[in-house]
Amino acid sequence: MPPKANDRMQVDSDSDISIDLEHTTAKGKGKAKPKTGDKRKQDKGKGKAKDTQAYTWEASFTRSWETVQEDEAGSLQTSVEDLMARGRRRRLLAPAAAIRRTIIRHLVLVLDLSAAMLDRDMRPTRFDLMLQYAREFVTEWFDQNPLGQIGVVGMRAGLGERIGEMSGNPQEVLKAIADRHKMEPVGEPSLQNAVEMARGSMSHLPTHSSRELLIIFGSLTTCDPGNIHETIDACVKSRARISVVALAAEMKICREMCEKTGGQFGVAMNEGHFKDLLFELVPPPAQRALTRLSTTSNGAGNTTVANPAADLMMMGFPTRLPDASPASLCVCHAEMRSQGFLCPRCMSKVCDVPTDCDVCGLMIVSAPHLARSYHHLFPVKPYDAVQEVEPLLEAACHACARVFPDKPVVAKEGLSPVGRYRCPECFNDFCSECDVFVHDVVHCCPGCGK
Ligand SMILES: [Zn+2]
Ligand SMILES: [Zn+2]
Ligand SMILES: [Zn+2]
Ligand SMILES: [Zn+2]
Repeated sequence: MPPKANDRMQVDSDSDISIDLEHTTAKGKGKAKPKTGDKRKQDKGKGKAKDTQAYTWEASFTRSWETVQEDEAGSLQTSVEDLMARGRRRRLLAPAAAIRRTIIRHLVLVLDLSAAMLDRDMRPTRFDLMLQYAREFVTEWFDQNPLGQIGVVGMRAGLGERIGEMSGNPQEVLKAIADRHKMEPVGEPSLQNAVEMARGSMSHLPTHSSRELLIIFGSLTTCDPGNIHETIDACVKSRARISVVALAAEMKICREMCEKTGGQFGVAMNEGHFKDLLFELVPPPAQRALTRLSTTSNGAGNTTVANPAADLMMMGFPTRLPDASPASLCVCHAEMRSQGFLCPRCMSKVCDVPTDCDVCGLMIVSAPHLARSYHHLFPVKPYDAVQEVEPLLEAACHACARVFPDKPVVAKEGLSPVGRYRCPECFNDFCSECDVFVHDVVHCCPGCGK
């Protein structure tokens, strides 16, 4: 017993000492030198680059935390709210005019599974973080693009590897990237092989659907069997749009690939920025494939191309079978099931919508899917920030009935000092939360239904 007690005593005194040490570290003086030295060593690589703005892509990234200021009471609450509100307003003000967008989207998610993904500069590793964000991305993408389909391709050991077939069912796509052991990173990536494979899986698609590639790229090298510029030219010709989210640094070939095909390129600075870059690609892209085609070709035959996407396209609304109906074989998996949907043209049974009928090729969608895609084309008009309270105004938010503040506060540009945001159609006032909710989630004004 005595030695044990002694041990504990020592442990206690040790921990006391370490606490003392931490105190001195906080003051930044004396004994704590080795500790701060260690820290500096860890941060050296990143810190230096950030301080001197060594890379051009760093300039486009504003350090949001530096704009946060404490208020008089020393609280961050108001400035955080302010920052969020400003971000929301900026986002809402951007897409005011109606843009033609591609609703029927086909996306191939290209994942880097090379050894570079085992780097720990993003926690826990680039690979684990990529998988986590890819899952969130797929869920959000299908939520916003119910008529879209996603396929997954991996880049590993110099080859392109098909991980998930093109599918309109989010569960199937998520299942394909669920098992991390099947995707253990190894070897070098090959951009050309992966892009060729992705392009091949979309070559049969009709012109009204988009062909998109989203490459998450962690490596700084690519190991290609041929000339990748020919692949890029082929992508331009088939109107495949390539976007790259790089995790390490900017590579010229990646940027060129994105710029030539009309996609987006971004380098992730940290975990949060990585997610932002990825989620920027969730809303459907503006349709500009045809203008691009006429500028890139020599201009001989393409100048007067009518837009074929304005043609009508055929869709079928399926009949849903009740769960208690007798089991029968489905045409998509050849399995015995009782629930499913009947193709309105050939009456064959499929498991999930939206999909293309395996027998007659008709596109089968449900009406809610169509309705949910609709809001991208006709966004709710941005609400105006009310600058001053006039008498005889409603005292509470039209949507949630929360009472507006009486006293105006000093507000930054684009924000309402009285916390009111007014619909330009129905002239009802809404609070900032409802404003964001209406534009981000509901996509329909509760006051006028537009
Ligand atoms: Zn099936
Ligand atoms: Zn059919
Ligand atoms: Zn409200
Ligand atoms: Zn309204």
